Amino acid sequence: MKKTIRDVNVNNKVVLMRVDFNVPMKDGVITSDNRIVQALPTIKYALDNNAKVVLFSHLGRVKEEADKASASLAPVAKKLAELLNKEVKFIAATRGKAVEDAVKAMKAKDIIMLENTRFEDVPGKKESKNDSELGKYWASLGDVFVNDAFGTAHRAHASNVGIASNVEDSVAGFLMEKEIKFIGGAVDSPERPFIAILGGAKVSDKISVIENLINIADKIFICGAMAYTFYKALGYNVGTSKCEDDFVDFAKGLLDKSKGKIVLPIDTHVAKEFNETSESMVVESHLIPSDFMGLDIGPKTIELFSNVIKGAKTVVWNGPAGVFEMEKFSYGTKEICKMIAALEGATTIIGGGDSAAAAIQLGYEEKFTHISTGGGASLEYLEGKELPGVAIIDDKCCCGCSNC
Ligand code: ADP
Ligand code: MG
Repeated sequence: MKKTIRDVNVNNKVVLMRVDFNVPMKDGVITSDNRIVQALPTIKYALDNNAKVVLFSHLGRVKEEADKASASLAPVAKKLAELLNKEVKFIAATRGKAVEDAVKAMKAKDIIMLENTRFEDVPGKKESKNDSELGKYWASLGDVFVNDAFGTAHRAHASNVGIASNVEDSVAGFLMEKEIKFIGGAVDSPERPFIAILGGAKVSDKISVIENLINIADKIFICGAMAYTFYKALGYNVGTSKCEDDFVDFAKGLLDKSKGKIVLPIDTHVAKEFNETSESMVVESHLIPSDFMGLDIGPKTIELFSNVIKGAKTVVWNGPAGVFEMEKFSYGTKEICKMIAALEGATTIIGGGDSAAAAIQLGYEEKFTHISTGGGASLEYLEGKELPGVAIIDDKCCCGCSNC
């Protein structure tokens, strides 16, 4: 169990808080404030408890000096001020006198935001390479470190692992706590039956997830383009479907040792071309014509999956069932949302950037217990890897309290 912000005294303390404000932007305008909204509970808790809050976040890719112009966090600070209905002082620097003076001048319940942590990557990749001087410097600005940025927890950067290594108290924010509870909980001690649904574009992206979950889940549904590599392993013709020939042997090996755990689609929606107006039809999985590609799963598969998933107590879903971006091929993904939504008393989790986007786009956001905020981080968590940004957070003591 990890310590959270509830376990430390933040009264009048400078709280260094790493958030994930890597919001989508177009022409300097934030197109979704979801990541800012998700961080509000931890920020508000700190302010309500008289902390002085210093926010750190990265935004976008900063590889060279020219990238900085469009990667400033200034618009994000403005948005946060609107959402909090409170002044958020933006400091257009990541170190130096302006930063130090601003921190010194803070009073309880004040909040400031520093410039994009990745500005420290030019030159020298100090943030991304967890430069020890930088982590130490940022840590020296405050008293307590709160990590609420799950999206970067799979990376050891100066603004998460670096700061945490140099302060007395490193604790999780509420968003981080939720991710650890649900994704960590599913991997470590799932309530059973535990069903994993794995789809998306490539087997090669998901090998480690499959290898880890095959040992933990009671059943694994394979869908999305991944299924065609498994079909090929079974000797089926896959037509022009996306298929990774280099991974057919892996799929074969897995099917051999999975002892019936893997459930493959039994029908598939195929089209002549990769577009919505192309001729298309639903065929049984072993009957894909040579000049057609599989772009979604069919109704018989949905019936099969629905029967197997009945009674599940934990469901983890990673990877859309088809090309959900096209309405015509969003059927399978939508039906999977529906079948998960219909489960009673189950913990249902989405861990995957596109799957999360699909569930939100299709209107099922509220129907899941937890939609992870970190695509890459949730994938690595599902692979069974220790995330450096999580590992460095202080543990509660063995009795679960935070004091002894
Ligand atoms: P996640 O981000 O949830 O981990 P992935 O990135 O692995 O998911 O995969 C998402 C992509 O997989 C989507 O863009 C979707 O269009 C694509 N996809 C799903 N099924 C198919 C298919 N049958 N053929 C081609 N692409 C597919
Ligand atoms: Mg993706």
